[in-house]
Amino acid sequence: MKAAIFYGIEDIRVEQIEEPVCGKNEIKIKVEYCAICGTDVRIFYSGHKKVVPPAIIGHEITGIVAEIGENVEYSDLKVGDKVTVVTSIGCGKCKMCKGGFYNLCPDTKAIGYFYKGGFAEYLVIPQEAVKQKAVLKLPENLSLLEGTIIEPLSCCINGQNYLNIKKDDFVLIFGGGPIGFMHACLAKAIGCEKVVIVDPAFDRLVKFGKNFSDIILWDLNKINLKQEIMEITNGFGADVIITACPAKKAQIDSFDLIGSKGRISFFGGLSKDDSIIQIDSNIIHYKEISVFGAFASNRNDYIKAAELISCGKVDAKKFITDVIPLENIVEGIKKIKKGEGLKIVIKI
Ligand SMILES: [Zn+2]
Ligand SMILES: [Zn+2]
Repeated sequence: MKAAIFYGIEDIRVEQIEEPVCGKNEIKIKVEYCAICGTDVRIFYSGHKKVVPPAIIGHEITGIVAEIGENVEYSDLKVGDKVTVVTSIGCGKCKMCKGGFYNLCPDTKAIGYFYKGGFAEYLVIPQEAVKQKAVLKLPENLSLLEGTIIEPLSCCINGQNYLNIKKDDFVLIFGGGPIGFMHACLAKAIGCEKVVIVDPAFDRLVKFGKNFSDIILWDLNKINLKQEIMEITNGFGADVIITACPAKKAQIDSFDLIGSKGRISFFGGLSKDDSIIQIDSNIIHYKEISVFGAFASNRNDYIKAAELISCGKVDAKKFITDVIPLENIVEGIKKIKKGEGLKIVIKI
């Protein structure tokens, strides 16, 4: 079969390799689409401690069930079903796993990182993942292409699970990449009127924003952000701020822009060598601010993401700017790095 093999930093080659065999406790999927995630771009340029070359990455996967191992008890799954795959796989034994939070398992192993991923014609889902019901059937009306948006959207849902966003909240999002737009669409799906994305790369923001006319876009280089927010909120400050970018300044500035009882999500992580920030903790104290983290997602978030796309509250097609063949994967990764594509999906 054809697969894109990650051999090391800036080295992915599309090659013919042996097709994997489906074990008795495993499920084999014929991959149809796999979208390129920001993490795939980071793995390509910087590597990842859980990705040991030669490896197959890619975790925003949709495909068709090709084979179900004879010991697998999956009442709702049969050969030919359209499916997606939950990325985070836990140990199954620790406190977090018992609560269903496989993403927070200290020994979490993920599809497309530790386990082989979706940039290949076939993917065998390992026993541990099968046990955790990581293979999810897509809603009937969802196409395999649209289904690739479920994983990144599920991560945004996991982040927003903490934020209690209400209709009349003013929501500010730092970062106009796919994740920023997904967060904005989720807030819109709740019914929020005032949802703003700010980004210093304003030309790109406007280009991608064309599909999202109900979201307000601000040029971080040209405005006085605090002044604008105070104006739009009658001097109160933002109710919710989401940093959908790896920028320290966005995290620090959030405390200056947030209103009382505000909720801040540090959705995007910072570089591991430079992750210390200084804040005035009295802002948290006197304004009763809550600050939340978010990392990956779980099965329930996937189900909710699939429902939101299926019922039309989030339009998956708006995020997909390019569909390219596996042979062009490196080109696709470079395009995302340059900020030229929102979601680039590989057609396997
Ligand atoms: Zn992803
Ligand atoms: Zn665990």
